[in-house]
Amino acid sequence: MTEGLVEQVDILIVGAGPVGMTLHLALAAGGQKSLLLDRRPLASQQGDPRALALSYGARQLLEQINSWPSRAATPIETIHISQKDGFGRTLIDRADYALPALGYVVRYRDLAAALAAQLPPDAMLAEAEILDITPGDDHVTVTLRHAGQLRTIQSKLLVHAEGTPGDDPAVKVSDYEQHAVIAEITPTPGHNKRAWERFTPDGPLALLPLGDEYSVVFTLPPAKADAVMAMDDTAFTVALQNQFGRRLSFAKPGPRSRFPLALRLRETLVKGKEVWIGNTAQTLHPVSGQGFNLGIRDAWQLAEILLKNGVDRGSLADYAASRRLDRKGSAFFTDQIVRTFSNDCGPLKLARGLGLLALDLCPPVRHFVAKRMIWGARAWP
Ligand SMILES: Cc1cc2nc3c(=O)[nH]c(=O)nc-3n(C[C@H](O)[C@H](O)[C@H](O)COP(=O)(O)OP(=O)(O)OC[C@H]3O[C@@H](n4cnc5c(N)ncnc54)[C@H](O)[C@@H]3O)c2cc1C
Repeated sequence: MTEGLVEQVDILIVGAGPVGMTLHLALAAGGQKSLLLDRRPLASQQGDPRALALSYGARQLLEQINSWPSRAATPIETIHISQKDGFGRTLIDRADYALPALGYVVRYRDLAAALAAQLPPDAMLAEAEILDITPGDDHVTVTLRHAGQLRTIQSKLLVHAEGTPGDDPAVKVSDYEQHAVIAEITPTPGHNKRAWERFTPDGPLALLPLGDEYSVVFTLPPAKADAVMAMDDTAFTVALQNQFGRRLSFAKPGPRSRFPLALRLRETLVKGKEVWIGNTAQTLHPVSGQGFNLGIRDAWQLAEILLKNGVDRGSLADYAASRRLDRKGSAFFTDQIVRTFSNDCGPLKLARGLGLLALDLCPPVRHFVAKRMIWGARAWP
């Protein structure tokens, strides 16, 4: 590529995480070319320690682009929800929904590898550093450095899929003062394809079945997360056991990682010829496992609108309008769960217990919650 030449592309996607790759593949399936760009090599995604709970709806979308990592996915057949030191519990069972599973647990790295395996060799510029973005009336001009060369790319549409944003005045941030400590651990007896969501005054504790292990998301105030990160394996196992209770026992914890948690909501999804999808549009607390499930619906919806209306036509406002309910509804639902459940206040504990009991005893309410976890906004009345 010669320096000084301006390259033209229809759609440039910045960020080749699972959401950016999904968009690229969904567009390609409809015959629309796009160019992906990432600041890291794709192989670096193999170091990501997260496990993701994916909804049944997400599986269906990934299957359509041949990217469902079936052998790496562990089905969730039941979800047990309870609170520490309080009454009330509810059980959501796949049998009530005539589905093979309520959802699946997949390592981030396996999902990323399944998507990357579908990318043609010329789909992506890896290790590219963006130096400048200049918006124009009918295109966006991006200047970048790639493989030691300066390149200028003019794109009819620039899609931002860079993941969780840093400081950005366009993004509203609400800090949860909680960190997620994650690790894998072996349960006895086996997990029997059951996920657990246990609310504690420190924050929610989630156990997701993954192979023969549980993937643990242990949410704690930052100082307690410091202490848990510093523990040896025996002390960590005891701390987890204390939060979880005695229904299972744990052994052989794997390496731990931590993630600070905040709600980050971008108010405006579309500006001129730029659009924001996935975590850069909304980053949620992982309590209800909504982040990627929401991001894949962003990518899918955008691809559908672009394929239907074409890149040149004024379809971006349709995109922003079509995502409002799903993203705001999911953000509100997740935020309310975190704030209502992460405390030790007596009356709230009573109300939580009654709520869990009502969910358990009243199937229509339970189905309402479960269907939104499985399908997202597609299940809104
Ligand atoms: C502890 C934890 C548990 C979670 N559990 C779940 C779960 O159970 N279920 C679920 O659905 N979600 C879960 N999530 C959320 C999920 O991980 C995210 O929603 C998902 O990874 C978002 O994908 P993305 O492609 O938008 O962003 P990312 O995965 O962050 O990818 C962004 C990509 O953009 C690239 N990039 C960034 N900046 C630039 C730049 N300037 N130029 C070029 N490239 C750039 C990065 O290198 C990266 O490859 C969890 C998150 C955490 C922290």
